[in-house]
Amino acid sequence: MRRVTIFGATGSIGENTVDLISRRPADFHAVALTGGHNIARLAEQARRLNAELAVTCHAELYTELKAALSGSGVAVAAGTQGMAEAAARPADWMMSAIVGAAGLQPGLTALEQGTTLALANKESLVAAGPLLMSAAAANGARVLPVDSEHSAIFQALVGEDPAAVERIVITASGGAFRDWPLKALALATPEQAATHPNWAMGQRITIDSASMFNKAMELIEVKEFFGISPDSIEVLVHPESLVHAMVGFRDGALMAHLGPPDMRHAIGYALNWPERAELPVARLDLAKIGRLNFTAPDPARYPALDLARRVMRSGGLAGAAFNAAKEHALDAFIGGRIGFLQMAGVVERTLDTLSGESGLEDAANDLDKILAMDRLARVRAGEAITKQEERKLG
Ligand code: NDP
Ligand code: MG
Repeated sequence: MRRVTIFGATGSIGENTVDLISRRPADFHAVALTGGHNIARLAEQARRLNAELAVTCHAELYTELKAALSGSGVAVAAGTQGMAEAAARPADWMMSAIVGAAGLQPGLTALEQGTTLALANKESLVAAGPLLMSAAAANGARVLPVDSEHSAIFQALVGEDPAAVERIVITASGGAFRDWPLKALALATPEQAATHPNWAMGQRITIDSASMFNKAMELIEVKEFFGISPDSIEVLVHPESLVHAMVGFRDGALMAHLGPPDMRHAIGYALNWPERAELPVARLDLAKIGRLNFTAPDPARYPALDLARRVMRSGGLAGAAFNAAKEHALDAFIGGRIGFLQMAGVVERTLDTLSGESGLEDAANDLDKILAMDRLARVRAGEAITKQEERKLG
């Protein structure tokens, strides 16, 4: 019986994780589930899995959660303290599926306790890859990738010598606006950006897919997970989203991982690792699919990719700054303050400003420094957004 905890249980990844676990009650014991605003779903999941503890990150929702779980035997907590309590409960496996930099602290706590960390929360790896990886190494804990591309790479590397890897290719669907004329993108709305051609995901990652900030984050994620040089990581636009990633070896072989666009594959692989268990995902019928397409991404359409390469070259706290600026720019786009195309400009200006200040080159292995850079980058991104707004008014 494996003891599992899910951070971000009420989200898209979280719900898929709960789905897989609830199918095998004899194999998994739910320790803690965390959510945010969606109290009804969190309570339903906690009852379904008979969890020990349910936590909402919002302190003011404690009473509501307590009422929703009355008589269930599930313990209830809320706020920062509640989240820390969930992270501290001993578990064998933890799913990190909070969205945003808030996922960093619980993941770190899990690793410090030697818990296997299934990492969907890419933001924490982008902001603090070296810190997480060194915490894993120091405590004999494993970090297992859940992002579909990284799970694909991880699977293609089983039994291989890492030194024989020549390149890694991750694919991108191209997002909601792949076929839009470049000119029309300036007027794209958050609602239009939040529809994905192939995957059903949370709102923020779906918009990040349209701008390719998601792929930009994933480039950095590849570097942090697999320690490969940034120049050896490539992106291909692949509209079908069936090949998730490819690993090229020095003998010229290119190993591709294919699967349907269903996150339960990558989640299930991390849940059952190192074994493979039967999973409720569709099987591909390639004869029916017939053809797969690949093209190089257009840098003018997707400026986020070049920003990621700049961040990888810089190293240090540039990842923390990039992630925070991106989160802030995304909030501003969702809130109607800036346009779709201005998000990249805000992130670029933030990095430019921070490059002229001290601290960006500091190593990303100190939590306080990472959190301080996160805060500073949000301030600088806020200033860049205000400038954009003034320009619009003037
Ligand atoms: P969702 O927005 O669907 O879910 C986010 C979860 O985090 C919810 O449980 C939400 O609670 C909770 N949450 C939100 N803000 C906070 C906060 N500040 N503190 C604590 N909890 C919070 O996101 P996804 O499931 O789409 O994505 C989760 C992570 O996985 C992201 O890092 C994303 O990039 C990554 N990922 C997602 C994929 C996908 O297919 N969805 C694919 C690959 C990676 P509530 O909703 O109750 O308010
Ligand atoms: Mg992905």
